[in-house]
Amino acid sequence: MGCYYGVKSPDFIVVWFKRDIRLTDHAAISWAIKQGVPVLFLYIHEPSVFKSVHYSVRHERFVWEGVKDVQDYLEGIGGRFYAVESEVIDVFNYLCTLNQLYWVVSLEEIGVEITYARDRMLNDWFADKELLWAEIPYSGIRRGLKNRKDFNTYWYGYMSQIIENHSFDKLSWWLNEDWDNWAQQRLFKEVNREVGIVQSGGYKNAQRYLNSFFQRRIARYMQSISKPELARVGCSRLSAYLAWGHISLREVYQWQAIESKNSPWKRNFTQFASRLRWREHFIQKFESQCSMEFLPINSGYRNWQFNNNELHITAWKEGRTGVPLVDACMRSLVTTGYLNFRMRAMLVSFFTHYLNESWEVAAEHLSKQFLDFEPGIHFPQIQMQAGFTGTNTLRIYNPTKQAEDHDPEGFFIKHWIPALAHVPVPKLFEPWTLTQAEQIWYNVQLGLDYPLPIIDLKTSYTEAKDRLWGWRKKKEVQEDSGRVLERLSLPKRKRKEI
Ligand SMILES: Cc1cc2nc3c(=O)[nH]c(=O)nc-3n(C[C@H](O)[C@H](O)[C@H](O)COP(=O)(O)OP(=O)(O)OC[C@H]3O[C@@H](n4cnc5c(N)ncnc54)[C@H](O)[C@@H]3O)c2cc1C
Repeated sequence: MGCYYGVKSPDFIVVWFKRDIRLTDHAAISWAIKQGVPVLFLYIHEPSVFKSVHYSVRHERFVWEGVKDVQDYLEGIGGRFYAVESEVIDVFNYLCTLNQLYWVVSLEEIGVEITYARDRMLNDWFADKELLWAEIPYSGIRRGLKNRKDFNTYWYGYMSQIIENHSFDKLSWWLNEDWDNWAQQRLFKEVNREVGIVQSGGYKNAQRYLNSFFQRRIARYMQSISKPELARVGCSRLSAYLAWGHISLREVYQWQAIESKNSPWKRNFTQFASRLRWREHFIQKFESQCSMEFLPINSGYRNWQFNNNELHITAWKEGRTGVPLVDACMRSLVTTGYLNFRMRAMLVSFFTHYLNESWEVAAEHLSKQFLDFEPGIHFPQIQMQAGFTGTNTLRIYNPTKQAEDHDPEGFFIKHWIPALAHVPVPKLFEPWTLTQAEQIWYNVQLGLDYPLPIIDLKTSYTEAKDRLWGWRKKKEVQEDSGRVLERLSLPKRKRKEI
């Protein structure tokens, strides 16, 4: 997108920060600086976006912390960073009333339909006003890519480019009293609502996580990655900073390349680096087929019938299914905004496979809970785990086996389900097998202190397996699988991808 009809230089340039609130490795800032005219650094907090179904107050809080971090830094060097709460069109409309010519520059956003529709509308609006809106590619993602043949080559090329350091000292800030008054009345204010015990946003915090990960925590990365408790420390925990753009992926990538050179944990660095690539591989999938926010990736699954059992849906959302690892994961997620990859996959598998509930309902609930909600990873991952691509390995996670393997002593389950604190392993993983006498002995009354399971796991597993494989064999699914592979997958990729 982007249009320019005028020949005259603008009076000022608006650097519009979207999901990229940072001052390092920011191509829109570099572009604006090169034009040599005064700049207005602006973040617009849009009520319509943050009130929509995939966003939550916990996201707002994290974004606000990122804004504050940038503001504090710039104000310290005599600069300005405006953050206003408004619909985007109202801001740009107001700027038009000041009788000064402006251009806008931003990074492309690979977002949900609500932000994509806003961008389409805005593109027409700018064209109509004959104003330039320059959109610069987001990281290693390319708009309109037809297939993945050169994805890796391009991506590695982008990641190894030298990052430009911006110097803000000599920058000319666009100052205007009318604008200042208008913006002061609409300031994006501190978000003071309850958000749980979540990570704090901002570049400084991202750096803290990076440092501690590369210096110490990475030593246990691969040992921890699948474990719900250990992963909280053993994984990088960078996802929220990357999702909201408080640090760039390229900065993280280049930093790890330096740190890995003399590290005794080279293998862990390699695993970490490949996940950074997966990140954009997934975002590129979403860019190529953004309808996956609403429709199955593989069109052969369009007529799938979900159970739509409200009691089951609520029990899953509230961590009251009676299946301990599922409930512990959900409770931990709702409180802290974080869960490791395997447990996210298991939550989705339980919901879509065992309960046969809709991946869309899962996507909505989880996106609100995940502090790191990133549409480009979220939707393809949810559909992949639900088995709606028609191309990936079908995986139905057995929650009892997952608990045995990844929480063998039950610390995680006991922490999040105190009612089961006295139940020993292995009964802890299947509390429904406790006798009346054991319930008295272990101080838990099933159905009262902790629910009985809402389904029979064995029966539901068999039904899910038959259903999934039955659908996989359908002509419509097989027919669309070729297109999915061609458009969304790396050439010659093996069928297993996680
Ligand atoms: C159903 C489901 C939904 C998910 N939704 C999101 C989401 O909304 N936002 C999000 O950032 N991640 C999502 N993930 C991917 C993954 O679970 C998280 O990125 C990871 O757990 C974040 O923890 P970390 O930063 O400590 O990861 P690390 O293991 O330290 O990895 C470093 C970075 O690599 C990227 N990454 C890691 N694993 C994956 C993966 N499997 N696919 C793509 N990128 C990956 C992330 O950016 C992550 O921050 C989802 C996974 C599943 C199964």
